[in-house]
Amino acid sequence: MSGLKDFLPSMKIVTEVVELLLQTANAWLFEGQHSGLSDREWMALRFLGRANRFSRTPSALAGFVGTNRSGASQIAAVLERKGLVTREPSPEDKRSIILSVTFQGKKLLERDPVNVLRDQIAALTVDDRSRMRDTLRHVLSRHDVVRGRHHADICSECIFLAESGSGSDRQFKCRFFRKSVSSKDTSLLCSHFEGKAPSKALDQN
Ligand code: SF4
Repeated sequence: MSGLKDFLPSMKIVTEVVELLLQTANAWLFEGQHSGLSDREWMALRFLGRANRFSRTPSALAGFVGTNRSGASQIAAVLERKGLVTREPSPEDKRSIILSVTFQGKKLLERDPVNVLRDQIAALTVDDRSRMRDTLRHVLSRHDVVRGRHHADICSECIFLAESGSGSDRQFKCRFFRKSVSSKDTSLLCSHFEGKAPSKALDQN
């Protein structure tokens, strides 16, 4: 009986967490436009502003915003028409297109509607922010297993990142692309990210 008694309050917490998370979505899901962009166009601009050089492609964008390649190309075309992104052939593979956020796009990102939420998280203590990040990453990693896909995340959490040297000689290499990655770029989003196994320490039982 004590098992059931413990289970009910803990499920109440789970329900509250899901309800609260769903309500944060109104920071980035909205009807109509905000500063001239729909919520999906904002999602695309935000992703391209944070994505590494391997992920600023129409197919990576499609995966991130949850559409197909033609849908992502249409979104990219809208952003390009507004002068917020450029589309150019990749210097590494001329058949691929690389999308880059322009100066004007970066300026607009300062008015990203999601910044309201960012500012509230920034007001938390460093410990609370770190715990929130680690918990959300853990939940998302477990969710990836259910969905059979990987979420976009940063190089420093990826199993393909190899590190050598130390101090100012520290160097990074992506073993997936077999290319070097600058220290600065290890904190950018990658759609080819593959995470380490979810931490057991964050699982309750
Ligand atoms: S190390 Fe992982 S996250 Fe970084 S570029 Fe390679 S695949 Fe992407």
